[in-house]
Amino acid sequence: MEVLRIAIQKSGRLSEDSLKLIKECGIEVSSVGAQLKATASNFPVEILFLRDDDIPGYVADGVSDLGIVGENVSVEKNKKVDEIKRLGFSKCRLSIGVPKAFEYKSINSLNGLSIATSYPNILSAYLDKQKVKADIHEISGSVEIAPGIGLADAICDIVSSGSTLISNGLKEVEIVFKSEALMIGYPGLSAGKKLILAELLFRIESVNNAKNTKYIMLNAPNDSIQTIIALLPGVKSPSVMPLVEAGWSSIHSVVKENDFWEIIGKLREAGAEGILVLPIEKIIK
Ligand code: ATP
Ligand code: ZN
Repeated sequence: MEVLRIAIQKSGRLSEDSLKLIKECGIEVSSVGAQLKATASNFPVEILFLRDDDIPGYVADGVSDLGIVGENVSVEKNKKVDEIKRLGFSKCRLSIGVPKAFEYKSINSLNGLSIATSYPNILSAYLDKQKVKADIHEISGSVEIAPGIGLADAICDIVSSGSTLISNGLKEVEIVFKSEALMIGYPGLSAGKKLILAELLFRIESVNNAKNTKYIMLNAPNDSIQTIIALLPGVKSPSVMPLVEAGWSSIHSVVKENDFWEIIGKLREAGAEGILVLPIEKIIK
């Protein structure tokens, strides 16, 4: 029996959500911790724990069949891998920051400056597209301190809230690249491994369908049933069951969390009572 190898970040901002996704798919991974490798007990996968920077290379070589990395790392490394699925977590952006006092007018203000970054490929492609000529200084960490210590005039680095920029006396002036976690794959997967991947993707899809979706149950007078089910179309259509009390029914459906807050008022106007909203783990469409 073939086993699909999935490389995830050993310790960092992607680690927790990557492992959570695998577990939500019902895959039990024991012995997480010091090891480089863990085998799932109930699904044909093996997890490799690596530095994120190494993952695209291992996947391109087929040492690992799949990998979960930031798009920023995948694009920067520019290895021959398939982009299999955007995963929706670890959202961040690569931005250019300049010292707060710098008079920034447009992208042309960067002409002739030196910019420190750990993403020289993404940055140079962006600058070329914008027809800006700047000097790129590749450094591997603590990029945001570069202007302060006179190493560069500006930086290009990962931003999520912007607080790191501000605390280093910088301001964000251009967004270069938007990123989220990405599943990448070895382009030469065997037929057997493709089957395991298809099953894994089906499970991920079911988990994602359930995210932000709630199960809703409520009681309503029979003459409001039509109004209420128009508000709660559900996956196929809602279930309606009679209550013991004559003239009343219980309606069950699913609803997006955001939509819920919009329709709650209308449900109550229509006479809904005893509204229960419950979490859903998985939705198979
Ligand atoms: P490693 O030790 O594995 O090389 P690292 O220090 O390079 O780790 P992390 O800081 O853990 O990397 O970030 C991993 C990825 O998480 C980044 O490449 C990016 O895609 C994403 N990321 C980084 N910072 C944030 C953030 N503040 N919010 C959300 N996602 C982020
Ligand atoms: Zn890294």
